[in-house]
Amino acid sequence: MSECCCPPKPVSSATAPLCAQCGTKGRSVDRCTVIHHVKSELLSQVGEDEYRFCAAPACAVVYYNACGVVFTVKDVRDLVTAKASGDARPLCYCFGFTEGDIRREIAQTGATTVPAQISAFIKAQLCACEVRNPSGACCLGEVNKAAQRLSEKGKPEYA
Ligand SMILES: [Zn+2]
Repeated sequence: MSECCCPPKPVSSATAPLCAQCGTKGRSVDRCTVIHHVKSELLSQVGEDEYRFCAAPACAVVYYNACGVVFTVKDVRDLVTAKASGDARPLCYCFGFTEGDIRREIAQTGATTVPAQISAFIKAQLCACEVRNPSGACCLGEVNKAAQRLSEKGKPEYA
C-alpha cells in the first residue's frame, strides 16, 4: 500500500503498538476477526494493516492499528465481553451464552453447567472463537471467571 502512513512492520512484539486511548498493550487479532465484527458501513476503513484488540474494560477502543485507525464499541456489531456488564454481557459467542444465562441458572439451581457445556462443545470442535469472539480468543477463561464471580455473589448472605 503506497499511501500507507505506517512505519515498517515492527520486528518484535516488544514494539507492539499500544492503545492510543488507554495505553494497554493489545493482543494482535486476525484481520478476518476485525472484518467479521466491524459494522458493514465502516469496512472500507479497515485496510490491510495488522490490528490489535484492546481488552481494557474502561476503554471504548476495540480495535486499533499502528496507523492510528481505531474502531470503538460503537463501531462493532456485538457487545464486547470485556467492555460490557449486566445480564446482556456476552460470554460465549459461539454458543450464545450470556452473563444472564449463568446468573439465572445459579439463582435457580445453585450452580452453573455453562462452563461444562462449552468445554464439551470445544471438545467436539464446534467452536470458532477466533472469528466469532471480538477478542479473537477462546471465551472459556472469561466464562469461568464470570461463573466463579456469579457463584460467589449468588451464595446466600447468611452462609
Ligand atoms: Zn484501550
